[in-house]
Amino acid sequence: MRKLILAALVVGVAVVAVAAVAQSSTPPQPRNPEPPKPTTQRRFEPRVTPEMIRHSRLQDVLYFVNFVYSVGVLLLLLRSRASARIRDLAERMTRSKFLAGMLYVVLLVLAMTLLELPLSVYEGFIVPHQFDLTEQSLGAWLLDEAKGLGVSIVISAIVGGLVLVAIRRVRRWWLVAWLGSIPLILIGVLITPLVIDPIFNKFEPLRDERLRRDLVAEASRAGIENSRVYQVNKSKQTKTMNAYVTGIGPSARIVMWDTLLAKLDHDEVLAVMGHEMGHYILKHLWLGIAFSVALSFFGFWIGQRLYERGLARWGSRWGVREERGDAAALPWLLVVSTVISFLLSPATSGFSRHIEHQADIFGLELTHLNEPMASSFVKFAEDSKQDPNPPRFIEWWRYSHPSLGRRIDFVLGYKPVAHHE
Ligand SMILES: [Zn+2]
Repeated sequence: MRKLILAALVVGVAVVAVAAVAQSSTPPQPRNPEPPKPTTQRRFEPRVTPEMIRHSRLQDVLYFVNFVYSVGVLLLLLRSRASARIRDLAERMTRSKFLAGMLYVVLLVLAMTLLELPLSVYEGFIVPHQFDLTEQSLGAWLLDEAKGLGVSIVISAIVGGLVLVAIRRVRRWWLVAWLGSIPLILIGVLITPLVIDPIFNKFEPLRDERLRRDLVAEASRAGIENSRVYQVNKSKQTKTMNAYVTGIGPSARIVMWDTLLAKLDHDEVLAVMGHEMGHYILKHLWLGIAFSVALSFFGFWIGQRLYERGLARWGSRWGVREERGDAAALPWLLVVSTVISFLLSPATSGFSRHIEHQADIFGLELTHLNEPMASSFVKFAEDSKQDPNPPRFIEWWRYSHPSLGRRIDFVLGYKPVAHHE
């Protein structure tokens, strides 16, 4: 086990070093001493800088590196028999099979987090600092990571324990797991804004009086109660901006990052919120849940087949027992599900881009604020250092939103049909 961790650290350090060298080969960019003041003149063409392009390409590369790296970590845990040893350790700690399974999952999550730490540090801390996208200290970042680890330990232990029971007791466990995933997803979406999000940030009603009044008017035209709009102190973690819809039923709400409120002007906020209200009114969260449940039906079905085939072939080499539902096989189940969801990326991204486009249309119909919407997209691109015109393949494979260049063109050319006032 110690050898394994050492090897992973060496690999991780090498990855970071290579990335750092790749970074230093381009001349350092002078940093703006002060953020530019919002101009009254609207701009509809993002200023594409070399830094922005470099950042976008790096994000694209990291997306694929992440996939390969996490599958690599899981295979390493299997092939080194570290997984089998973790199972033995968990079984020595308790006599209950269910508890041993949960304990195994906790230890597995810890091992994976440790092995993936170098990449997480690079991606989550070093890169955002290199591109001046955050001012968060290492201590604050590590605290957030620790909280995230705590949350994922609790959730994984429960889900992993249940999955192992299903595999042990039911022959066609993929069907049970699929059915079981539905209430778990619903509970997850319901409690995320109430229980999980407040662990990391502070959520409060909008402070700006005038903006609140105008947003209430906009929301009531869309048919939303105003109490559903919150602001969050996201500036703690990032300089980039965003707004999003979250929760279902009693927990449904629209949340604006404080960074967005600081950087967009009044009309731009109203335009962006028109888009968010579109997600809310058009029930995009429910649609998204229905889409992923339907798609995962095939994922679970093929998942069980690949899982069993792999175990029959390599299980004994990994120290996985013949009995059904041996916890030591869980990394293999994770490999299978990671690969399946990776391969389904174009479908999920395409679905997401479709509903994002619908939300853009809804926002324009509601607000008629075409130009502020376009200029806010310009700010999004410049601010997050995101290439407005990424390679087509990258957009098709992994973009959850149409590229900002495409969105700008669309909103400038769109003529709302709806009339109001
Ligand atoms: Zn959206």
